[in-house]
Amino acid sequence: MSTRTVVQLFRNSGLRIEPGMPICQVDLPFDWYQEEFKPYAEEYLALPDRTPESVLPWMDRYLLAAQKEFGPRLLLLAHYYMGGEIVKLVERYGGRIADSYELALQARSNAGAEFIVESAVHFMADAIATLAHPHQQVYITNPRAGCTLEMYAKEHQVAPAVEELQARYGEQLMVIAYMNTSGRVKALAGATGGAVCTSGNAKKVMQWALAQGKKILFVPDRNLAEVVCWWSGVAPERQFQWGGGEEGGQQRIARMSAEQRARLDAAQVIRWGSSCGVHTIFKPAMVEYWRARGYRVLVHPESPLPTVQAADGAGSTRYLWAAVEAAKAGEKLAIATEGHFVKNARALARQKGVEVVHLADIPDPAFQAMGCGCATMSRNDPPHLVAMVDLLRKGKAPDANKVIAGDVVDETTGARERLSPTERAGIVTHARRALDRMIEITERNN
Ligand code: SF4
Repeated sequence: MSTRTVVQLFRNSGLRIEPGMPICQVDLPFDWYQEEFKPYAEEYLALPDRTPESVLPWMDRYLLAAQKEFGPRLLLLAHYYMGGEIVKLVERYGGRIADSYELALQARSNAGAEFIVESAVHFMADAIATLAHPHQQVYITNPRAGCTLEMYAKEHQVAPAVEELQARYGEQLMVIAYMNTSGRVKALAGATGGAVCTSGNAKKVMQWALAQGKKILFVPDRNLAEVVCWWSGVAPERQFQWGGGEEGGQQRIARMSAEQRARLDAAQVIRWGSSCGVHTIFKPAMVEYWRARGYRVLVHPESPLPTVQAADGAGSTRYLWAAVEAAKAGEKLAIATEGHFVKNARALARQKGVEVVHLADIPDPAFQAMGCGCATMSRNDPPHLVAMVDLLRKGKAPDANKVIAGDVVDETTGARERLSPTERAGIVTHARRALDRMIEITERNN
């Protein structure tokens, strides 16, 4: 990917910090902060309110000092799903907002950035670290920010399934790992000749794999796998549903019925069985509700297939954001994805007379659902960002926040299990290969 392309990906989000707007809807409990971060959390919690007028002078004290000291050697990153106005704050301090594909490329594309601080979830930081240059250091503002898709497709769960399938299908088996996986699972994909994919390029990657006549294990999102099969013309009878999480790791072909084994043998695509709770709530009836009221409905493909089929369009975070940017005054959009993203999209849309609603926010008790944000990503807030950057400036960055490719993180405690340098070299080689294949496939026809 050329530097020019990367620059184009990073247009400013267009979001503005408005006077009096709430910086954070909810404060995190004090004991959720790691010890080193507590003094900063104390200062933050003592501020009179959460408006920019109170919060920004406090943040400026630390972040402007770090910007002055590091200059372009410091790169702040955040994902569009970040709540607590982190998106706007990161941009205020010269940082960049992106989806998971664009984030993964940031270390590699910005060789001058020695210190990369990411406010998002662990798999994104791990992908940045996997593609980083040797002199770059990657940090995450909260090591306990995980992703449920990743958590139900850990290496110790996926690896036995891969072994099981390889024993039966040999080199015909190829793993495609969604970006929402650890580096170790991406390495499993790389080792089978497979690739990583994101929701934006999953169709291209799937078609690349199908063209080779491979039998594909798609990990971890069963909904996205089903949607991509639909986009790619893989009939339901050529798909097989494997288990997810621990169940997926314990599934054995020898224990299957003859009928199940026959379906597995006939399958082109084997879907790992995880899903994201933020996206599984979307129903076709919600699409009909908003469409009947004049809304164009756009959904993220981690949503269930019937909802994707009912919608007017489906695509990645980048696709959804671009649709809001392109919408004309008077248009109405109902968007099915993560709640903070929709809130940010609504703020952008309002500036130009476009109305945006969250697909699940239906004022009718019959629907019994409401849109929600990604709870794990929301574990990043202003004190986490301030503490991380300030401690880095002081040379006291906690080891728990330092992301080294191939780490396994316990999302409950934030503890890290690191690989030895030799083990890491093997994992990084394969994970990088899978990421590079994705980049090559994605950029080929762009
Ligand atoms: S919204 Fe779902 S898929 Fe995305 S990071 Fe959060 S848990 Fe993971």
